[in-house]
This record gives sequence, structure tokens and C-alpha cells, in this order.
Amino acid sequence: SSTWAKVPQGPPVSITEAFKADKFEKKINLGVGAYRDDKGKPYVLPSVRKAEEKVIGSRLNKEYAGITGVPEFTKAAAILAYGKDSSALDRLAITQSISGTGALRIGGAFLSRFFPGAKNIYIPKPSWANHAAVFKDSGLSVETYSYYDKNTIGLDFEGMIADIKAAPKGSIFLFHACAHNPTGVDPTPEQWKEIEAAVKAQGHYSFFDMAYQGFASGDIHKDAFALRYFVEKGHNVCLAQSFAKNMGLYGERIGAFSIVCADAEERKRVDSQIKILVRPLYSNPPIHGARIAAEILNTPELYDQWLVEVKDMADRIITMRALLKDNLEKLGSKHDWSHITSQIGMFAYTGLTPEQMDTLAKEHSVYATRDGRISVAGITSDNVGRLAKAIFKVKG
Ligand code: PMP
Repeated sequence: SSTWAKVPQGPPVSITEAFKADKFEKKINLGVGAYRDDKGKPYVLPSVRKAEEKVIGSRLNKEYAGITGVPEFTKAAAILAYGKDSSALDRLAITQSISGTGALRIGGAFLSRFFPGAKNIYIPKPSWANHAAVFKDSGLSVETYSYYDKNTIGLDFEGMIADIKAAPKGSIFLFHACAHNPTGVDPTPEQWKEIEAAVKAQGHYSFFDMAYQGFASGDIHKDAFALRYFVEKGHNVCLAQSFAKNMGLYGERIGAFSIVCADAEERKRVDSQIKILVRPLYSNPPIHGARIAAEILNTPELYDQWLVEVKDMADRIITMRALLKDNLEKLGSKHDWSHITSQIGMFAYTGLTPEQMDTLAKEHSVYATRDGRISVAGITSDNVGRLAKAIFKVKG
């Protein structure tokens, strides 16, 4: 028989198949994890176009980058995340990565190899579906902590603090730095302060996943609050960064993984091991996206333009949230939809059940994941009315 005769059929990894098969012209895809403009089209940031033209115009060669990538990129990425005056910058081991996913994977592998305590990582419940898979495949055991309260469609803050306190001392905790995926529910700055205190009291190690810096609130500093606060409070955290959303560089696969070390000497040792870890994975990362991002981050005019464009994307999403809520209220919905506008980032957790989501798809050609998560980026001025009517019909 064939060598692969015993390979079982796996479940589909993506949700776009049913959407593609639907012939209705006004079908709505709220499953995509990528920004769309108000016409529902993919968007290339003008600052990215300009940076790319500059990169191409300078006719650079195509030699390999070093194992940890393009230094002009990683240096600037670190400043963007931690802040230009951060004490972390002089003791930071950082490597370019294959976007945020690759950063998480390098981080998982590093922890799996060197973390001195138990090789378990606590992720929020729920979390981005890929987190558990990435960390499991990196050799860590995945545990969860309370995060979402389905009764309030908000944060289960007490549950979260209780679980942080209940975890064995010195555990690894993964935090979404901002714009929690899939719920869109973030702790407030005051809540982050209490979370930090609980994490410190238990001697836990913090891993931040920051896939949406700037994309959440429109302000890159505000979105980095939790990360920077933890560093300021003395946590030598590690961090996965992605430039997929905030620069719209999805397919360029550009990100960074960094570890805040105790001092420069420790950084040197950690850096040597990151290189040993990356080398057999993919030798060295692709250069094009890194050059584009570096051009934007290191050219003041392009940087300022980019900040405006990130804010425009965030603002469009915030506007669509408000419009969806308004439309539902105008239709006479008696439900409290305030979570739609209090949540942040690309996704909204509607509170709709899997069965209601199935009805949305079957009867209204509105496609999203069965957990009730919708991508607000897929909402436009044109389709928001129809979407609200569909949700109203299904849920009331
Ligand atoms: N973390 C979270 C929470 C995400 O939502 C995503 C993107 N969906 C990522 C990481 C990584 O995405 P990418 O690999 O495209 O940067």
C-alpha cells in the first residue's frame, strides 16, 4: 500500500470555502483576518508603496541577510515596540521573523529549550486559534487562563487574576498586548496594573504577542502600554511583533521576536542561542518586507505618513463598529450592543451562538467563524445596513 495510506484527513484550516461557493452578489465575508477599505478591497498603504519604490529604486543586491535579519529593521522595530527611551533597548536580543506567527514559533522553541521552570504556557481562553498549535508544536504544554465572560461579553477580570494567582509560581503567561483576538476585549490600563502585580507576586514569566500595534486604538504608544508597563516594572519579557496588520504587509511575512535580558552579557548569550535555533529552521529571513518596514520606520516623513495611515485604518474600524450598533438599535433590537463599540481591533465578538452563525451564513450570505467572531474590517458603509438586518433577524 501507499506510504501515506494511514494519513488521516484533517479538518479544513480556513473558513473561506463556503463563502467562495456562495453565488449571491451581495454576500459578506466577515471571516477574513485582513483589513479592507470601505469598498471592501484589500488596501496597500501609500507609505508602503512609497517605501517600496525607494527600496526598488536603490537597486540593492539580493545577498542573504544575517540569521537574525536586516539590522536596520530589527533596531527600528524594537524602538517602535518598547519606546525610544526604553531601558530594554540596550539589553534586547532580537531577531527578524516570518511575521508574528514565526516570532511566536521562535519564542516557543526558545522557551522550550531554555526556560528553567515548567515548560507550560498559559494562554487566554479563548485565544487566537493558532496559539495552541504553535506552542504545542514548539514543544510546550498549553494551559489556559480565564479571560472572556460570555455573560457580559467582556473581560472576566476576577477569573483572570484568580487563575494567575492559582498557577504554579514561575509559570509562563502569554498576553495579547492589545486588540485581543478573537474577542476584541482588552483589559483597561488600570486592570493591566493589577495583572502586572499578580504576575510579579507569582514570579511568572510574560510573553507578549503584539500583532496589532497602532491598529487597535490608532495610537502606537497607547497600544504598547501593557508591554511597556511590564518592562518598566522590571519584567524581562519576551515579545512577538507582526507588521502584517499595522503596515498591511501580510504576505511579506515581516515580524520580530525579542527577549529582554538582564544585561548586555546575558543578551550576548541569548542572541547566540537564537541564532543556533533559527539556523536549522530557515537559515535566514526574507529581505524585501524588512527593507520596506525599515524604510518607513527610519525615514521621518514616511514614518509620520504611516502613523496617519494606521490611524485611518483604526478609525474606519471604529466607525464601522458604531454604525453597526446604531443600525441594530434603529431596527429596534432590544439587546445591549455596547460591546460592539467597547471592543477594540479588527474583530468583534457578537455573542451570537454557533447555530445563529450558521443561519447568518445559510439565509443571509454572511460568513464568519462559528464562535460569533466577525471581522469588522469586512464591514463597509455599503453593507453595514444589510448586515445589521441579518443579525437582527437572527438574534432579534
Ligand atoms: N497573533 C495574533 C493574536 C494574531 O491575531 C495574528 C494574526 N491573525 C498573529 C499573531 C500573527 O499573524 P502573522 O503571522 O500574519 O503576523
